[in-house]
Parts: sequence; structure tokens; C-alpha cells
Amino acid sequence: MQAQIQTLKPQWSISGAGGSVEPTPFKVYTQRDLDRIAPLARLSEEARFEMRVVSSVLPFRVNQYVIDELIDWDNIPADPVYQLTFPQRGMLAPAHYDRVAELLRSGASKEELARVVDEVRHELNPHPADQMEMNMPRDDEGHRLDGIQHKYRETVLFFPSQGQTCHAYCTFCFRWAQFVGDKELRMASSEAAVLHNYLRTHPEVTDVLFTGGDPMVMKTAHLKSYIEPLLAPEFDHIRTIRIGTKALSFWPHRFVSAEDADGLIELLERVVESGKQLAIMAHYNHWKELDTEVAQAAIRRLRGTGAMIRAQGPLIAHINDDPAVWARLWQKEVELGIVPYYMFVERDTGARNYFEVPLVRAWEIYREAIQQVSGLARTVRGPSMSASPGKVEVQGVAEIAGEKVFVLRFIQGRNPDWVQRPFFAKYDEKATWLNHLKPAFGEEKWFWEDEYAAIREAKLQAAAAA
Ligand SMILES: *Cc1c(COP(=O)(O)O)cnc(C)c1O
Ligand code: SF4
Repeated sequence: MQAQIQTLKPQWSISGAGGSVEPTPFKVYTQRDLDRIAPLARLSEEARFEMRVVSSVLPFRVNQYVIDELIDWDNIPADPVYQLTFPQRGMLAPAHYDRVAELLRSGASKEELARVVDEVRHELNPHPADQMEMNMPRDDEGHRLDGIQHKYRETVLFFPSQGQTCHAYCTFCFRWAQFVGDKELRMASSEAAVLHNYLRTHPEVTDVLFTGGDPMVMKTAHLKSYIEPLLAPEFDHIRTIRIGTKALSFWPHRFVSAEDADGLIELLERVVESGKQLAIMAHYNHWKELDTEVAQAAIRRLRGTGAMIRAQGPLIAHINDDPAVWARLWQKEVELGIVPYYMFVERDTGARNYFEVPLVRAWEIYREAIQQVSGLARTVRGPSMSASPGKVEVQGVAEIAGEKVFVLRFIQGRNPDWVQRPFFAKYDEKATWLNHLKPAFGEEKWFWEDEYAAIREAKLQAAAAA
């Protein structure tokens, strides 16, 4: 291992190599470029057409690194990273698929196609969990603070506008609506001042999470303008800066050989030196993403700054619905110094019919996987649903007083008081999301239901009044 690090170093430290090593160019492909992706030539005409249809509706973006180093082209369509990035016919409902396919076949006008595509997208629940109305704070005059989400007391999410894309797109992305150009569906802010003003007046906030898209697609200079001011004494209440990213998987060169990689590393070092916790919330779906030399070099370099890397990702049919895959992923993460953090349940949006896994199966996969790893990897929580009332974890299936039930708990709640109180739902082998579940033991409501309804009503009224 050590020898590998040494031989790799000149490739990923431009300055160390006397400027003689060029940064690896970032080469990206979108729907327009499908025909230029060389390995797709092995697909049938029909399969390539299917890809065009699906990528007319759902965002598609992939890059050369993913194509060359993460996908095993001898194993398509089953390859997990292929399923993670390339559109598949099953991702659209047959009726939606047929409507769009018909227009493409008949050479319909751009306007006609755009109209139908727009309709289909709006039928895919583009903003699950009431995100637009329920999580966006307002200023004193009731204006929405674009680019900020504040759902749980201690943590603010910030969506920097330059970070609202990714180095490649995940086919199952729950933020997909932001990538298809629908302005109404965007949540970004270009204003560092909006974030800083908000945090200045919210001393209860301890954590800021930069998210997207992927903030690591931003130039270091942009990232710096958001992060560096937070190191000033007036933000002493901010104890943790988190950055959510998939770049360690989709473009690890960002951290080792990009033009401004060294500047990024210096910025991160400065955050750590300031005494705050710097957490890189890395999105991983499969151990294959951790296997390349450059991915491991990027992890080592990030850890060298003193940042803590935590790993999270959803459980997805066709990609990682297998306990062996999770066990190997968590094991590998621990070996590389990453802390397994969350396993999520796929959200109720976009191509969810293709990707969803029943809650009971999700729990079985989690349980079988966690039984195979040591305690150091059992830091991972899940399977967890990020629903509107909060993050709800499926703790298991039990039989209580003759009734088969799901045991649930809030890991995070709109009301912190809900957290860590076990509650019970009727067992349902088909349920894939919280709204499919019913309270057990003949109860009419969840213990949190009235409070949640009141919170929701207040938010919706504030939205309507604005
Ligand atoms: C998950 C999440 C957080 C962070 O929760 P932690 O349990 O602290 O990791 C914050 N805000 C939102 C909206 C979230 O979904
Ligand atoms: S990295 Fe995250 S935001 Fe980007 S496409 Fe994947 S799931 Fe969506």
C-alpha cells in the first residue's frame, strides 16, 4: 500500500512534480453526447433509443473517469455503476415511456416534446417531503430565503448556486428536479451574505451543511467565499462545517490534481485549524467506488487535512440491494479511515418504482450486512427515511401481543422531542415509505401526528401569506 502511495504522488501533486504533470482533463457527456460514448456502441439500436427516451425526462450526465474506471463494460446492464449513471428503460413507467418514445419516433417538434416531458416530470413528485414550503426559512417580511433549508434545530443546509450540479448524475437522484432546468424547482442561492446573515441571527445552529448538487464542483475560490467567513469569532456557535459530496466517487481528481486542488486542501486545513469539526459527508453506493487508486489517493489527501470523512448513501434496487455489497462497502470504508454513517431508504420521487426496496427487505439487508462487520463499521444507522416529519429509522420487525409490527424511531424530528421514542406500525411487506404505514395496535394516529399537522399548517400559512 505504502509503495503505491509513493508512486502515485507525482501524479496527483502538480506542484510536487515541478508542474510537468498535467491535471487530468474533466470530460463530461450529457444526453446530446450519447452517440459519442464509445462503449455504448456495443448496445443494440433499440437499447440506445431507450436511453434517449429516458434521458429526455430524467437528467443524464457521466464523465470519462466513471466510464473508464468504475464501470465494467463486460457486465452491462447489471454493472452497479452502470445502473447508477446510465438511464434504463424501466426507470419510466410504461405509459410515460410510450408517450415520450412516440414523440421521438415521429419527430415531433421541440415545443411539443418539451411540453410532454414537462408534464411527465410533474407526475414524478419532483419535490418530495414538501421541501419547498416546509423547510425554507423566511425573513421578517416573509420572503423565502432561497438556498437555505432549516428543518432540524441544530443544522442548516445551504445550496450554493455554483454547486447545483454534479460530476455525474445518479439515476435515482432525489434532487433530480434541480438538474432539469426547471427554475421553479431550484433551491440555490448565490448569496454568501444570505447564509451569513441567517447564521448570525440563529445561535441555536451548530452545524452548517453545504450541499447541492455537489459543492465540490465549485471552484475553490467560490467555496472559500462561503466557508472562510464562518471562521470569524462571530460564528463561534457554528461548531461543525459539513460538505456533502459525491466527488470522491465521481471525480476524485478534484482533490488531487485539479488546478485548484491545492487551494482546496489549504482551505480545508484552515477550517480544521480554527477548531471546528470539518465533516466530509461522502456519498457512496458501492465498494467499487472505493477501489481505484485515485479514489484512495483523494481520501488520503482529505484525511490529511484533519477532516473526518463520513459515508452515507441510499439502498437502491439494481445497484446495492445485497447485504454482501454493503458489508464490503462498510468494511472498505473503515479500512480507508471513513466512518459509515447512514443507509437511506430511496425517496418517493423520480424513478422510484425502478429503484425502491420494500422496508422489510431494507431492514433485512441492513441487518445481514451489519452482522458481517466489526463494531467499527456498526456506526452506520439505517435504513432511514427522510420524510417530512423527520428521519425515521426502521429498527426492525417484532411480534408484540400477537401483532406483527415494524419498530420505528425518529433519528431526527421536526420536534426534537420526538427523537428516540420507539413507535410501531402494522407490518406491511409491500410498504416502501412512511406514508404506506399505519399505526399498530388499533391506534388511529401516530403519537406525533397532531403536532406535525400543526407545524405543517403554520408553515403552509406562512407560505400563503408571503
Ligand atoms: C439528515 C439531515 C440533516 C442532518 O441530520 P444529522 O442526523 O445531524 O446528520 C439536517 N437537515 C436535513 C434536512 C436532513 O435531512
Ligand atoms: S451526487 Fe447526489 S445530488 Fe448529485 S446526482 Fe447523485 S444523488 Fe443527486
